[in-house]
Amino acid sequence: MSNLQQRIEKIEYDIQDVCQRIGRKRSDITVVAVTKEVSAARASAMIEAGFANLGENRPEVLLDKQETIQSGAKWHFIGNVQSRKVKDIINRIDYLHSVDRISIAKEIHKRADHIIDCFIQVNVSGEESKSGVTPAELKNFIEQMAAYDKIRIVGLMTMAPFTEDVDLIRSVFRSLRQLRDGIAALELPYAPCTQLSMGMSNDFIIAIEEGATHVRIGTALVGAESGEDA
Ligand SMILES: *Cc1c(COP(=O)(O)O)cnc(C)c1O
Repeated sequence: MSNLQQRIEKIEYDIQDVCQRIGRKRSDITVVAVTKEVSAARASAMIEAGFANLGENRPEVLLDKQETIQSGAKWHFIGNVQSRKVKDIINRIDYLHSVDRISIAKEIHKRADHIIDCFIQVNVSGEESKSGVTPAELKNFIEQMAAYDKIRIVGLMTMAPFTEDVDLIRSVFRSLRQLRDGIAALELPYAPCTQLSMGMSNDFIIAIEEGATHVRIGTALVGAESGEDA
């Protein structure tokens, strides 16, 4: 069995295991296979293995991969995007996970030719290195989104701190869930906000326990082009 096949089986096992343990349905969780570190050939192998949702974080790399991969993948843009690059990608992706400033919303409004499903990125941990709206600003930010009718806010996204402290990671995910519930309760027509994009290679099990609907898994699933795997 190839290393890729082994990683796929391990991740699939872990996801089914946590779902069973806490009584969630596997089908309620979307795995976004983060292909940002690998070739288009590897990305195609992920699609063939049943991972139709691919995550990229650089416009050029996304567009290059799309040239090669013609099949019906769903594309998730998961990284910080510069305002001037929004036009390059916005009509070529299925989800944008990183809306965190008005300037991005304005660009989407100007450039999108249909309604775009977006996650608002929230900096729950408050680390300076992380982008995202602060929890305190979130409600106001989302209310401002009413002016941009090409944006549908499907959920919230966050990145946990890089730490071994499981309790800290869990508290970040739990806070995002509470924020999501608060926004959903507003019943804004443009912000159903039912989804939670959280959890990566090191913390996706905790994220699923705390309600993640989208986990973004790179190294532990897809691997990286350099090194161990094939
Ligand atoms: C790279 C990246 C991931 C995947 O990270 P891994 O630790 O390799 O699973 C997830 N989300 C975002 C925003 C990323 O940039």
